[in-house]
Amino acid sequence: MPKVALVRCERYEDSEQAIRKVLELLKFNRKLEGTIFLKPNVCAALSPNRAATTHPLIVRAVIGALREMGAEKIILGEGEGLVAPSDLTLERSGIAAVARETGVDLVRLDKMEHVVVPIPGGKRLKEVKLPRILLECDFFVNIPKLKTNTFTLLSLGMKNLMGLLRREDRVKIHRCDLNIALADLMRVIRPDLTIMDGIIAMEGQGPVLGTPIPLNIVIGGEDVVAVDAVSASVVGVDPEEVEMIRVAWREGIGVGDLEKIEIVGESIASVRRHIKRPIMGLYGRFEGVEIYAGGACIGCLDPVGVILEELRVRNLLERIGKLSVIVGRSPYVPESVEGNVLVVGDCAQEYSHLGRFLPGCPPLISLVNWLMEILSAHRRRDHQSRR
Ligand code: SF4
Repeated sequence: MPKVALVRCERYEDSEQAIRKVLELLKFNRKLEGTIFLKPNVCAALSPNRAATTHPLIVRAVIGALREMGAEKIILGEGEGLVAPSDLTLERSGIAAVARETGVDLVRLDKMEHVVVPIPGGKRLKEVKLPRILLECDFFVNIPKLKTNTFTLLSLGMKNLMGLLRREDRVKIHRCDLNIALADLMRVIRPDLTIMDGIIAMEGQGPVLGTPIPLNIVIGGEDVVAVDAVSASVVGVDPEEVEMIRVAWREGIGVGDLEKIEIVGESIASVRRHIKRPIMGLYGRFEGVEIYAGGACIGCLDPVGVILEELRVRNLLERIGKLSVIVGRSPYVPESVEGNVLVVGDCAQEYSHLGRFLPGCPPLISLVNWLMEILSAHRRRDHQSRR
């Protein structure tokens, strides 16, 4: 039976005691030899106060605890964000500073050699490219952030493993069957230990635009599926509602049944806090925006939602005026489409004559470029109106 430790921690400054307590409750006292690889979640170039990334004080505390257990060679690694280079994400998140302070090696996985690893029995992925440095390490510690995700409901320990892949492979996997592909990935690479940063979590429109919320909890265990199941339950979500937990559990990758997990430390009920779930889906969500989506996959629908949310949060949607978004292979499109028209993704190319076409499959880069154009145009306008 896998064991998962739940430890209260009110402030990041107390992370060291919390991590020690987690390891003590897990009776995790093996001597660590060889190379230890740590993978925090550094998906965006944001300050740790935004709660989108693993807090640097947790990472520092994990490094300290591992050193107490004999670890000598520790490597801290992360790939690039979907829209930001790893140099920027690691600096802004404070993770690069932790590496400098503690003297561990910091590697940008996107710049490292990847090798093709076959996946025997893979349901969607028959092979995957993984960083050689990870494959050659002796012990792998996963340090995810507990947060919501408009794509997968929650982003937990398993989702953090996506950062091991190159951006082009992640983009492909995000387009379809993400949860089955993740289970496949875990057939060949699985963390030896997962320490979840739930001290300040994220609710609402995660994984980047949500709201920080104090949960004051650190969750740890050797079975990442069990850690994710407990984490989901802590925030009021039945583990079976989270597709990636369900799939990994059914595929026998780990244990998602709370009855079959030994919980040590706090009980789930004593720390549970129901968080605000993300609003998923686009229809009726953004005032002044008409969506025409037919046969579109999540690879387009999710980033469209994220970009519109970003504009809404910045009060820019109303300034753009009426907007129509056409997406997918077979949308219903009326004879006359109102306002500014955005045609998103290669599937919708035949409608490109109706407005601004944002190509790509998924069209991540062109959507981000469009967002940047809007932001800088409004910045310029605001600047001029102040003069
Ligand atoms: S272009 Fe089509 S297949 Fe590609 S992400 Fe968009 S909807 Fe999916």
